[in-house]
Amino acid sequence: MAKYIFVTGGVTSSLGKGIISASIGKLLQARGYKITIQKLDPYINVDPGTLNPYEHGECYVTEDGAETDLDLGHYERFIGGPTSQGNNVTTGAIYRSVINKERRGDYLGETVQVIPHITDEIKRRVKVLNNKNNYDFIITEIGGTVGDIESLPYVEAVRQLKWEMGQDCIVIHLTLVPFLAAAGELKTKPTQHSVKELQQSGVQPDVIVCRTERKLHDSVKDKIARFCNIERNCVIESIDASTIYEVPLLMQKEGLDKVVLKKLNMLASDEEPNLDRWKNFLYKLKNPKRKVDIGLVGKYVELKDAYKSIMEAFVHVGAENQCKVRLSLLKAEDMEHEEGLEELKGLDGILVAPGFGSRGIEGKINAIQFARENKVPFLGICLGMQCAVIEYARNVLGYAKANSSEMDSKTNFPVIDIMENQKEVTGKGGTMRLGAYVCNVKKGSKLFDAYQRTEIKERHRHRYEFNNKYLSEFEKHGMVATGMYKKDSLVEAVELLDHPWFVGVQFHPEYSSTVVNPHPLFTGFVKAAMQKNR
Ligand code: GLN
Repeated sequence: MAKYIFVTGGVTSSLGKGIISASIGKLLQARGYKITIQKLDPYINVDPGTLNPYEHGECYVTEDGAETDLDLGHYERFIGGPTSQGNNVTTGAIYRSVINKERRGDYLGETVQVIPHITDEIKRRVKVLNNKNNYDFIITEIGGTVGDIESLPYVEAVRQLKWEMGQDCIVIHLTLVPFLAAAGELKTKPTQHSVKELQQSGVQPDVIVCRTERKLHDSVKDKIARFCNIERNCVIESIDASTIYEVPLLMQKEGLDKVVLKKLNMLASDEEPNLDRWKNFLYKLKNPKRKVDIGLVGKYVELKDAYKSIMEAFVHVGAENQCKVRLSLLKAEDMEHEEGLEELKGLDGILVAPGFGSRGIEGKINAIQFARENKVPFLGICLGMQCAVIEYARNVLGYAKANSSEMDSKTNFPVIDIMENQKEVTGKGGTMRLGAYVCNVKKGSKLFDAYQRTEIKERHRHRYEFNNKYLSEFEKHGMVATGMYKKDSLVEAVELLDHPWFVGVQFHPEYSSTVVNPHPLFTGFVKAAMQKNR
């Protein structure tokens, strides 16, 4: 039977619950257990697919095509295995199923209420993860902060599960222990209050993980244990780390995995989890021998979380090659002017990011022209690939007005066009081409060099596609399709013949890069940038 670990957060948001959840998962996995990590999000959107990246950062896409919270990206990067639809559940999705059941008549005359109907549905979504999988541990992160109105049904569901399952279920509460410079002290009061808040809802945390900028002295840990009613060794310090990938090791040092196993009545052997590969990765990450400068051109650059998976993919391949990837986030709109383009000079590689809508498009196209003409290694992802196609059509094929029909629905040269099956679609939620599709790779291409395979599978999230009407013309003039989704004849990748490394992909390689398996296409790109920088 699976054991359940809930991770709640108190005091403030952004304490890194996702990283703590992923780190616990990593430590248990490294001890040989089968685990999965789930995120419950208290907002009313059915999924984050319709959210602007400025709201919650990047939308992460699973292999099975769910549009999810970016924390699932952390889970996959740490654990190295795929998550799926069931791993991210929102209040919107919970209510939708309950209301659908009510309409079907499943409740047969009952008054449908938060307790028990909503809480039952939350509990079902937690337990259902174990149906086919036989996990040893299911780790469930509750989004938001305890005390939020939206979080209440989730905390109540956790209370009930704890009551039902007894020793098979624990709660880890993550809080902040701030340092007050004026007093020269670490303060435990916010932690005490947030634990009280949980207790008022009937939930006693088993473990408290304290985010802190400074070391927690014994006296501080004693105080937290005493006031919060937990065992002394269950107060875990989580000190600021130079990289998120250090956190599993810090948690291991603090004994978090042992405490969790003990609390769940699983004997913790004296053996330590095997983290050799992880440590090797960290060593290489911290001891780079080279560096490259890469510019990421995007429209949401003010918020770093909007490009989380891309940034992390560079960390993975950077470490693999012992090369520090210095990534500058460049605003696409700035590239609409000469001065903005100056910022591209001296870069060893240019990546044009995914995105939606027309803001910043012309800047992206200018940046691509720069990369193409100056032979700077270029990687275009999704919209970045589409912009590369538009740029080539305008500046090489001579179609000055070429565009994507997303940006200009009346263009006479829709080199990127809406898919046939998308024309009928109404509404924006969950209606794109989503999830993993097979792509056939042409031998002799940069794509093949990178993957070393003729068949790959990558994840998608878009509505528009390369317009095959123009394919032979593009190919005649040196931009060739090197990846294809054969079933529907969709172009998945384009490359320039006359360029050291210029690749545009319709899919999102960034979603599948992990610590243990850095993504081959990012590796190819960074290697080309290293070559340029030589
Ligand atoms: N807006 C483009 C489309 O829908 C690209 C999407 C993306 O970059 N993820 O096709």
